[in-house]
Amino acid sequence: MRIVAADRAEVDRLVDLGVDLAEYNKQLDNGIEVHAVLSPAESDALRAMGFNVQDKILDQTDYAENIAERNEAIQVAQAAAAAQDTLTVLRAEWFTSLDGNRFLSFEVKSSAVDAATVITASWDTGVNTAPGSGGTATLSRFTDAGQYMYHRFTNPLPLTAATPDRVVFTSNKGGTVKASVTQWLGKKNPEPSESYVSDFVDHYMDPTEIMARLTALHQEFPKITQLIDLPNKTNGYRRKAQAQFGTVAQSTFYVTSKAWGHEGGNDITMSLVNQGGNNLPLDVLVSGKNVVVSLATNGSGAVTSTAAQVVNAINNKPEAAALLKADLYRGNAGTGVVATAGSTKLTDYLKAPASVSRDPFQNKVLRIGRAKDGTRTGVFIYCQEHAREWVTPITCLETAERLLRNYAQDTKTQNLVNGLDIFIMPVVNPDGAHYSMYDYNSQRRNMTNHCAASASDPGNRNGWGVDLNRNFTVGTVFDGYNGASTSCTSDTFAGPAMLSEPEAKNEVWLVNEFPNIKFAMNTHSYGGYFMWPPGAYKTAGREVLPRVDLGTENYFWDASSKILSAVQSWRGTAIWPGRTGPVTDVLYSAAGNSADEHWYKRGIIGWDFEVGADIYNKATGRYTAVGFQPAFAEGHEEAMEFSSGQIAILDVAKKFGADKSAPTSELLVKAKDAGLTKFTFKVNEAANIYYTLDGSTPTTSSLKLASAGYREGAEQITIHAKTTVKWFAVDIAGNAEAVQVRELNVPKS
Ligand SMILES: [Zn+2]
Repeated sequence: MRIVAADRAEVDRLVDLGVDLAEYNKQLDNGIEVHAVLSPAESDALRAMGFNVQDKILDQTDYAENIAERNEAIQVAQAAAAAQDTLTVLRAEWFTSLDGNRFLSFEVKSSAVDAATVITASWDTGVNTAPGSGGTATLSRFTDAGQYMYHRFTNPLPLTAATPDRVVFTSNKGGTVKASVTQWLGKKNPEPSESYVSDFVDHYMDPTEIMARLTALHQEFPKITQLIDLPNKTNGYRRKAQAQFGTVAQSTFYVTSKAWGHEGGNDITMSLVNQGGNNLPLDVLVSGKNVVVSLATNGSGAVTSTAAQVVNAINNKPEAAALLKADLYRGNAGTGVVATAGSTKLTDYLKAPASVSRDPFQNKVLRIGRAKDGTRTGVFIYCQEHAREWVTPITCLETAERLLRNYAQDTKTQNLVNGLDIFIMPVVNPDGAHYSMYDYNSQRRNMTNHCAASASDPGNRNGWGVDLNRNFTVGTVFDGYNGASTSCTSDTFAGPAMLSEPEAKNEVWLVNEFPNIKFAMNTHSYGGYFMWPPGAYKTAGREVLPRVDLGTENYFWDASSKILSAVQSWRGTAIWPGRTGPVTDVLYSAAGNSADEHWYKRGIIGWDFEVGADIYNKATGRYTAVGFQPAFAEGHEEAMEFSSGQIAILDVAKKFGADKSAPTSELLVKAKDAGLTKFTFKVNEAANIYYTLDGSTPTTSSLKLASAGYREGAEQITIHAKTTVKWFAVDIAGNAEAVQVRELNVPKS
């Protein structure tokens, strides 16, 4: 009960009376508020003694409510703990890879999303063998951006016993589910004809060499090629010349030439001298391209000029400022006295031979096709957005050469070249690629420095540039998506704005200029992935860009099988099922990437390859990553196998263009129970189903059959009363089936 005592003496009286006071004491205008634990009788007794006993703070009713609330919470938790989880098998597959090794790959989702859920797989040794006779293993819980995705093997599990037929998954929450183990890939691609030729690259090539080869190919095959000059020249393989003076931050500064290094910047020299004498002023003397800073001295002839003073003196001397600009080191105030320095030549640090032009780079696309008039399905195959991924440009080049050099004698190649409009861009990022080959092999971005002076000192020169695969306009860091940076020295720097870079503008120009482009393949390195949109999410709540619809998703999976079997046909490499799927499911979020740009802006089916699958070593039982720049023997194999994959994409595109037949679908009743019927649809090819449940005629604006969840099959639709279902299917090429009708009954409840 709340008691207001007139003063401290009255509180003391309560204490003397043995009243059970709470540890609470609040000064009021008219006294002191204290709280006492009192029975109704005790309250009345105190009031009779003249105490101001007011209202209750808490009483037995509150206690009862608290206890009820507590019991309810405990019951809910116990019920949740006792509830058996439901397991959904996303994928259960085996496959062979390099050297015929066999592997298992499982993906299972539990309805219990918490970290305490453990799922175990147990498989047999073939048809009608004992369950579990093949082996047992625990799956790993896969989470991304703090969200539970599913359980899987982190790496495919090497298979030692016979290939299994069935697998049983068991959760420690009680859920259990069985599945057939199917083969992933392994479909034998038709052997190329006897006369089919391949293997046209014998070393890693820089962009200058690649352009020369594209030009030569165009000259050799003028009828079936066109060489397209992209409209946006790059900034160029060039840098301003720089020199830095000082060893500790407060006395360090650096200078940057106004001219590019190769256009005179590299000829500038600078020295910091003590002229010898007392009380000399700071002065800057310029003779031709030689800048001499005469440092100030004190009464005993010692140098007194600070870095900040020298920077000001240089920048305020017009003859010096015409040649270069001085800046303090990484934002330091520059209060330290500078050290003298002899004549120091500025340099752009660039090491490529003179045969690599320092001018803005004229990038080119080789267009291959007989018609080249926009009437054929267009396919855009592009490589080396990221400079250090040296295998990728030779993959694109190999694809171009295979198409051209087999055209005369191979009918399959003729079908592709005659039936398609193929655009091959082997090097999206030529400046960065030159820099990666000659200066800094880990260069990922282009060479353009967007940093302020505080991050533009020469020690940062390997940290500049824009990640071109983050510079596009969909799901960008500027819109809050994850996986790109606004820091100018980050390796995923998205640029100062969307499409700020000429290299990204060139990609967009091409797909806008040729609206017949319906497929795109963005080739990267490494890890062995085959991916498609969505490729970005906002981390908060893992809000993913809209997933593709079920028909398109199924189309992607069907195409995967064809394309990845082609990759496998070269030397046996299997891209893992767990590295196949939407970027956000299997890799990470990459805000502002180009595949999302093509898909969400233009409906272009935008795929991504990561060449360079991990290699399994049977002796050690380990997987080894191949890296960005493996020895050429390995890089060559990667280029060959992924060129086969790129050509399989052309097959897919050709089929798409030739598909004039409508899909056929059927309605499948999945379950009937008291008061409800569940059904779904099945189609003979990847297609979307549009349906109505009210008897009206469906259109493409009607309900669309959705996926039950990512990496799952079609949803089931539940009805609770007799229903007329009307539906039709539309395939990815746009062919529509006639409307179908079915009456569905619901069992009485
Ligand atoms: Zn890359």
